[in-house]
Amino acid sequence: MNGEPTIQLLPEELQNQIAAGEVIERPSSVLKELLENALDAAATRVAVHIRDGGQSLIHISDNGQGIAEEELILAVTRHATSKIRAVADLQTLSSFGFRGEALASIASVSRFRLASAQREGQGAFVEVHHGKISDQGCLALPRGTEIEIRDLFASVPARLKFLKQPATESRKCAEILLRIALANKLVDFSFQQGDRELYRFLPGQTLRQRLTAVWPEHILETAKDVSHPDGGFQVTGLVGAPSTAQARPDRIYLYVNNRPVQNKTMLSALREAYRGRILGKEYPQAVLFLSLPPAEVDVNVHPAKSEVRFQDDGHIFRLIRRAVLHCLEENHAPLEGRTQELSPEASRTPTLSTTPIALPLSTRETYREYTIEAPPKFSGTKFAAGLCPDPEDRLPLRAPQTPETLPSTEPRFTYLGQIAKTYLVLSTGTGLVLIDQHAAHERVLFNSIRTHSTKNSKQPLVMPLALTLHPAQATEVQDLWPRLLALGFTLELETPHRLLVHAIPPLLSAAASKEFLEDILSAKARTIEDFWALMACKAAIKAGDELATDEALSLIEAWRQLPDRQYCPHGRPVMISWDVKELEKLFKRR
Ligand code: ADP
Ligand code: MG
Repeated sequence: MNGEPTIQLLPEELQNQIAAGEVIERPSSVLKELLENALDAAATRVAVHIRDGGQSLIHISDNGQGIAEEELILAVTRHATSKIRAVADLQTLSSFGFRGEALASIASVSRFRLASAQREGQGAFVEVHHGKISDQGCLALPRGTEIEIRDLFASVPARLKFLKQPATESRKCAEILLRIALANKLVDFSFQQGDRELYRFLPGQTLRQRLTAVWPEHILETAKDVSHPDGGFQVTGLVGAPSTAQARPDRIYLYVNNRPVQNKTMLSALREAYRGRILGKEYPQAVLFLSLPPAEVDVNVHPAKSEVRFQDDGHIFRLIRRAVLHCLEENHAPLEGRTQELSPEASRTPTLSTTPIALPLSTRETYREYTIEAPPKFSGTKFAAGLCPDPEDRLPLRAPQTPETLPSTEPRFTYLGQIAKTYLVLSTGTGLVLIDQHAAHERVLFNSIRTHSTKNSKQPLVMPLALTLHPAQATEVQDLWPRLLALGFTLELETPHRLLVHAIPPLLSAAASKEFLEDILSAKARTIEDFWALMACKAAIKAGDELATDEALSLIEAWRQLPDRQYCPHGRPVMISWDVKELEKLFKRR
């Protein structure tokens, strides 16, 4: 056969255009590549100007080391790079770039101009229009590099169609610049959008100072620094207070060896650390920098280099979780901090035993009987709800000196009353505290169930409870059988569709037990922790239950002793507080 061969090498511009599809998706990806090049060239000042979301203009200038005149053409040639020489170099990579295809790709889908000087005043330029060199020459230029991109994607209608409104594309560009600026704090960055300067980051600012450009003051004020070195690995950055968690994950910035990344392992470790402190649907704020030996991570997973793959995902997960958790545990137990501030001796002279107190009376119904039969004194001790089976372990709570005040070592921690039969109001002397009574009691019960098995202290029922089961529930019940026995239930499957309950955990009333089992069987709980949480929820006093003063005091006292008192087992806050400063702000005194 003669004529043209069937298989042909594509013309170079077309190769570049195809590659461009992978590397540069939109104006912000162009900007990312250009910023990375400037940083790789050791620039200390980078100025960016975009118009129309970057589509009509992206202009960037830097004061980096520049490109030699004879290498300008190479810079815009695909797979030409100054950053690696061999595959092995990827193992020790310290630059952002290494693929040598960004400039070639960008120049293949725009009107592109690159000007550069390695020495002051002695520069050169090259112009490339949609992949073809259209002009080149010499010009006087300060040391550094200047790139101008016009009409991005004008020759690629398919790509143009996918671009969003200019305002959205502008926002994405601003986001990229911000993310890079947060990781390169010694570099001076400016960012101009149309005729407006959006950001100016001065060199040498701290992470917090840079974040003030974008994060609200109250988030930054309560955010805490993370610093967690661990051998050749290190996690640093800053995490938001659980109370400022938000519905969207748009204030989470992750970095690996200073490179902004999207990474599921790091993200899930971060969320895991906040578990129990924020709601399942909420996201914290976090800026986390992970540094690790380059051999531990593969950055060449995707042309855009925003994904990475770790050698050991499990190790990274545990490292991040530990770093964040450590910071949260240290910083977010405000009530404790506050009481210690108020009365330093309180922490040294505990007036109440922290041993859980055995009192099987925990549901609202049983409590009422109890108060009638054996009135007040320590009627509220049930809230201390330990579940030790041995009655000798029961320790009476100390009677408050005056009914409204908690133990005398903390004279300024005063219970003021209940509002809406739901919230307990406290004064700390220098602040105001609201406690959600249901959430607090849930937390007390949950911790108690977690530490003390309920199995040895069943309450036998004179009349067994009967539950009708759907066929699916019948198998479910059998699967859950051992777990239910361990919780203190005695069960009998009378027929495949009828479950009899002969004994129930001491914590639950008969009615609450029935609700608990129904919820369990409709798969509302999966893990053992879910079981405990559900049990605590069913047994706890409810919103709308009126509490006598001593009941409220006992509840507060029992709750106050817990290490993780801030959140209920579902992650809702138990307590909200305002210190004097915050009150002054609310009253506009400051
Ligand atoms: P890579 O960054 O992967 O090497 P690029 O296409 O982004 O590939 O850039 C190609 C080459 O051009 C780089 O290796 C570098 O030598 C040079 N270069 C690009 N931008 C700059 C800049 N701002 N300052 C100095 N050199 C640059
Ligand atoms: Mg590059």
